[in-house]
Amino acid sequence: MGLTQITSGMYANNNATALEGFEYIGLSKTHASDQLVTDSAASGTGMACGIKTYNGAIGIDPKNINYPSILELSQEKGYATGLVVTSSVVHATPASFYAKVPSRKQYEAIALQLSQHRIDFFVGGGLDFFTKRKDKRNLIQEMNQYEFVSNLKQFQNTDSDKIGFLTYGKEPPKKLEGRSPALEDIVASGLEKMEAKQKPFFLLIEGSQIDWGGHANDMEYMLSEFKEFDKTIETVFDFAKKDGNTLVIVTADHETGGLTLKGGDFENATVKGDFSTEGHSAEMVPVFSYGPYSKLFSGIYENTSIFEKMKQALNGE
Ligand SMILES: [Zn+2]
Repeated sequence: MGLTQITSGMYANNNATALEGFEYIGLSKTHASDQLVTDSAASGTGMACGIKTYNGAIGIDPKNINYPSILELSQEKGYATGLVVTSSVVHATPASFYAKVPSRKQYEAIALQLSQHRIDFFVGGGLDFFTKRKDKRNLIQEMNQYEFVSNLKQFQNTDSDKIGFLTYGKEPPKKLEGRSPALEDIVASGLEKMEAKQKPFFLLIEGSQIDWGGHANDMEYMLSEFKEFDKTIETVFDFAKKDGNTLVIVTADHETGGLTLKGGDFENATVKGDFSTEGHSAEMVPVFSYGPYSKLFSGIYENTSIFEKMKQALNGE
């Protein structure tokens, strides 16, 4: 979600985005340890764990050393934690916050690590990596402290301490193909659950498929995913404004597609984009912040500094 994705999404939404209400804006350098163009594992690890690593690696550095993520540091401080994504829960970005593996493609190993973690709730696709495994284990059965739910209503209604909601067997479909539940609805309920715990919390939310629309060089796909994410940002932003003590950070792990906004129609809220690659690009990506410690996120810095800044906020420095 580079600046052009945001600009396109804004004009396609009648010149409005929830991001306009944020207080500080920064720019993040997304490169991997050995390549200018990052993948989502290296950049996810950069933000989650504060280390530059090679493309494909999750939670470990080029020397194979494990690093704790900001989610794990939050847990140590007594925070409740959650993950909500529109990819599978074992995909590179969410995995960067709880797993340590040399290759992002080790989905079953990543699922096993999630099953042995103690994240309070997680929502996303990937059920098959828990139940249809080469080692024949059924992780859902093994995770006996968790309640697993299978639809939004059940998720909203349960007051279990630990909740798993695996929305699809593998990767969830596009919003355009009817993916449900809506990200903003899961997040609204997730925020209520966090509030009910009466503890500080760390929640990772990813509009995962904005990237996939970029890979497909498909404006309609990208814009529909952005739209859902923008609504979700609004939900979080409203919560933070009311709460007054929540730091909100919105950023991307990288830009995808090398998108240029070439034209469109202001009156009809249509945009015309042109992609220059089916992969990622090395452009810096914006970081929007709101709430306590948000000022830390202004300026130009490495994506690993996002971890450092979150850690400063966590430690009240
Ligand atoms: Zn990608």
